Amino acid sequence: MNIEKVMVIGAGQMGAGIAHVCAQAGFHVRLYDNQAKALEKGINTIEKLLQRSVDKQRMTEQEKNETFTRIQAVDTLWEGSKADLIIEAVIENMDVKTDIFQQLDHIAPTHAILASNTSSLPITEIAAATERPEQVIGMHFMNPVPVMKLVEIIRGLQTSDQTYQAIDQMAKALNKTPVVVNDFPGFVSNRILMPMINEAIYTLYEGIATVEDIDTSMKLGMNHPMGPLTLADFIGLDTCLYIMEVLHEGFADSKYRPCPLLRQYVKAGWLGKKSGRGFYTYTKLYTNA
Ligand code: NAD
Repeated sequence: MNIEKVMVIGAGQMGAGIAHVCAQAGFHVRLYDNQAKALEKGINTIEKLLQRSVDKQRMTEQEKNETFTRIQAVDTLWEGSKADLIIEAVIENMDVKTDIFQQLDHIAPTHAILASNTSSLPITEIAAATERPEQVIGMHFMNPVPVMKLVEIIRGLQTSDQTYQAIDQMAKALNKTPVVVNDFPGFVSNRILMPMINEAIYTLYEGIATVEDIDTSMKLGMNHPMGPLTLADFIGLDTCLYIMEVLHEGFADSKYRPCPLLRQYVKAGWLGKKSGRGFYTYTKLYTNA
């Protein structure tokens, strides 16, 4: 299957990044968000990052302009009627995602593939909301999308070989390295990462070491680029809790129980970097320093 026109749904952190890399690889991209402000912010972010690439001499001014003009901000899902591939990157909520997939199923051409960037929800269930489950697949990009090389391709129970092959090629065309994963909770990356982060939080909860010493152990002892508690703050503690709950419920195995300290922090509104407080304190938000 020949993919030329891509539509991205959701212009947040991930959607804007996905639109960016698709346009940079030569695809024509329509970017949609149901919040005009989010769409504007997403487009501005892409422009800023492209300009940064020019400033760092990774791209010419002409390449930047050509890339940017391949992205069109659109204000209706109906623009999906022209797409070969639609990548959904809205909030992590099954009801919102299935509603969008049902609408897209009616709007998109019959040949079009519908992909979700979900980090934890079952692709099989999202696919079941459509009349084309064999053309529904997970395309899990990592954050920040322009930088991170990995794309997890998640095959739902009914995803066809043809759909998988097309998305594998697409990921490679975006200069990413795809891995193929069957549709089980957490896929591969979060199945391994989140229990490690949760265990780091237990280590703190049980008073075994300080935040700094837990992070230093993993950075210097395991050569991780950042410690697990710092990483949790960057991902967002609410997101970490949500994914642990998906693993716990999905496998019904107590080894995935979220640490009570993680729950307590989320209840307190300590969500990590985005809220200014998590395992560390981020004063930058308040001081403009
Ligand atoms: P975000 O909150 O930055 O962006 C979500 C966007 O979706 C917002 O702009 C919002 O206005 C828009 N939106 C919400 N409902 C919509 C609707 N009905 N129609 C159109 N747009 C709608 O979130 P994000 O971090 O970009 O995450 C998006 C998806 O990517 C989630 O499924 C998340 O699990 C997944 N993901 C996130 C990360 C990460 O590190 N942030 C990594 C991999 C995958």
